[in-house]
Amino acid sequence: MLKAGVDVDVYEQAPELGEIGAGFQMSANGTRVLSYLGLGDAMKKIAWEPNGKEIRMWNSGQTWKLFDLGAESVERYGFPYLMFHRADLHGLLVDAVRAEKPDAIHLNASCTGCSQDDEMAILHIDGQEDATGDALIGADGAHSNIRQTLFGEEQKEFSGLIAWRGVIDANDLPDGLIRPVGTNWVGPGGHVVHYFVRDGALLNFIGIQETDTWFAESWTARGTTAECLADFEGWHDTIQIMIQNIGVPYKWALMKREPMERWTEGRITLLGDACHAMVPMLAQGAVMAIEDGMVLARCVEKFGDDIEAGLKRYEELRLERTARTIRGSNDNADRFHNSQLGDPQGAQNFVDTEWQPDKVRERYDWLFTYDATSVEI
Ligand SMILES: Cc1cc2nc3c(=O)[nH]c(=O)nc-3n(C[C@H](O)[C@H](O)[C@H](O)COP(=O)(O)OP(=O)(O)OC[C@H]3O[C@@H](n4cnc5c(N)ncnc54)[C@H](O)[C@@H]3O)c2cc1C
Repeated sequence: MLKAGVDVDVYEQAPELGEIGAGFQMSANGTRVLSYLGLGDAMKKIAWEPNGKEIRMWNSGQTWKLFDLGAESVERYGFPYLMFHRADLHGLLVDAVRAEKPDAIHLNASCTGCSQDDEMAILHIDGQEDATGDALIGADGAHSNIRQTLFGEEQKEFSGLIAWRGVIDANDLPDGLIRPVGTNWVGPGGHVVHYFVRDGALLNFIGIQETDTWFAESWTARGTTAECLADFEGWHDTIQIMIQNIGVPYKWALMKREPMERWTEGRITLLGDACHAMVPMLAQGAVMAIEDGMVLARCVEKFGDDIEAGLKRYEELRLERTARTIRGSNDNADRFHNSQLGDPQGAQNFVDTEWQPDKVRERYDWLFTYDATSVEI
């Protein structure tokens, strides 16, 4: 938005900028946007680039290749598939914003609501004067205050899944234990995803398990190593070794939401998890927020003073794609946890059917080929 010549201020509730210790994957549809913004080299410097993705059986460790990444992502989609430590990417984005406008980010600014009139959008900030502008973008995450103010309490239900998250110092793992690929262990009732970040210095671990116990949907809820080990009892030794070496295991209750039918009201709209939070089974939540930002900036640029038309067009362009991603993520949850994975023959049949190359392309190509930088506005 700043690069498009639009003046922006960011109001963040946190008293200081920092990021929790966790990694995330960015497919070509996200790295394409960062490259367009001139951050391609900087992004590659802080990322880890995997050779490929593999599926592994939860108990035997049997391995199937899912697809090539690395060179093939660039060849097929024009841009790499990269893994990041969140703190590293967050730092890169903050620097990029400040390079355009040094005082753009206002910390300690907790939003308590919003309103608007014919002239402006108004952000109410706890204990401070209101901020005003031509438009307001609620990018305040899954528990968005702006969404609640505009559309009331949202409908969501516990998915029955918790995600264990943690980072492991690669030096603490036996040599050769983890191959240089993104790995997805699948089993009945659970799955584990791991990949390196920070140029291979850390391994990011996500273990998703079915449970009937409720926890918070939070980046900071801590669990214990013993609890995490108990959730993956009977799983392959490699999983046990990884869990034993996680510094602090965090847990996050995964919520399922129906796609919203609209998220714009006049001069106020939403972006990212505020309007389309999803379970992480397609690894697309943050990537969708990046695409949103690109499309929104282009709409605002195109519609100029007619801000309401610009926000409406942005919503129109993003509704179906993000809804489809929510549905695809839910479908993958069922796929990764299928009961057929319980025995070796059932597992072989299931993997042969579900991860057959044509089917994999069908599930991912429409995601990775999308170009937020040139989609027609
Ligand atoms: C286990 C797990 C793994 C995931 N893996 C991936 C992955 O591999 N790839 C991927 O693309 N996505 C992944 N995701 C999804 C991704 O984390 C989210 O989609 C992404 O963080 C959403 O970004 P956001 O900016 O919309 O919201 P958030 O990251 O939640 O940021 C919201 C910001 O708003 C601020 N805020 C909130 N309320 C207020 C307020 N009242 N006033 C002021 N500021 C406020 C917060 O402090 C925060 O800085 C994963 C999610 C989980 C849970």
